[in-house]
Amino acid sequence: MKRFSCPHCGTRAYFHNLLCLCGEDLTYDPGARRMVAEAAPCANRDSLACNWSAHRDGALCQSCAMSRVVPVLNVGDNHRLLASAERAKRWVLANLAEWDWFTDADPGRRPRFLMLSEHTGGRDQQITMGHADGEITINVTEADELIRLKRQLKLGEQYRSMVGHFRHEIAHFLFDRLKVLPDFLPAFRAMFGDERADYGAALKAHYADPRDPGEDYITSYATSHPHEDWAETVAHLLHLTDVADSFCSTHLAMPGVPDDYHPYAETDAYRLLTIAAEITIAVNDINRALDNSDLYPFVLTVPVRHKIAFAHGWLQGHLARSDGKAA
Ligand SMILES: [Zn+2]
Ligand SMILES: [Zn+2]
Ligand SMILES: [Zn+2]
Repeated sequence: MKRFSCPHCGTRAYFHNLLCLCGEDLTYDPGARRMVAEAAPCANRDSLACNWSAHRDGALCQSCAMSRVVPVLNVGDNHRLLASAERAKRWVLANLAEWDWFTDADPGRRPRFLMLSEHTGGRDQQITMGHADGEITINVTEADELIRLKRQLKLGEQYRSMVGHFRHEIAHFLFDRLKVLPDFLPAFRAMFGDERADYGAALKAHYADPRDPGEDYITSYATSHPHEDWAETVAHLLHLTDVADSFCSTHLAMPGVPDDYHPYAETDAYRLLTIAAEITIAVNDINRALDNSDLYPFVLTVPVRHKIAFAHGWLQGHLARSDGKAA
């Protein structure tokens, strides 16, 4: 994530800040990708602490406008959990805007989010996060850190976060956008396998007996089906690009990272991955000083790098490859 500053006094402003130390309101303009003065605020500013400006099409910002269903807010912690989940969503959408996904320059479809809670006021409901026909279901209950951590341990996952959930589920939506572009599907199938394989059976087999990721997959879940391999691969591309971008925004220096390096503008995915991996190794060393866990506990094998590079080419180049036509 880039660094932002207050348009009034120039002090550093963090992405989610609503107020500057100087007392001025902060509003993030997702089109301009900076904090602006004098913008109409999103209608969810007070209720959900959304600091984005309203989109020209209405009272909500473009992120809140994508949330078509929200939980009953006066039940349990739903209000706090939704606000927290929406924060993670804005972060991921701001990352994707760097490659012109869902910006004004992008004529294609937008996802619709069903932001659901397990707590409905009546009987608790089970929620499966996922994507189908442009609708992304997010379980806001997982914005509760303790609940999420328990599930992470139970599932034996190395990493689980709301930002990660959004990156993964949006990746499924991006597959649907990309699959209609010339040449995408044959190249995808050569790299990830045939996504027409029985999805339900594949997931059942995975949960009955999870496979080791080995050399070819980034996570165990990625082994379950080509669709999940793609979603995990894209999520890791987004993790690593954002790690590199955040590192560069701090103006920290490291051998091998050029001054004035712009990770989202990098066209050589392998170079981006090498740089991001070096950064994660360095930060892991710092984390050990406090006995914290590793920043990025994954190994980027050669086959995994090829998959991430494939996803990078399509995610970064989608507008050029679609010839400006809506996909
Ligand atoms: Zn200020
Ligand atoms: Zn908003
Ligand atoms: Zn998935």
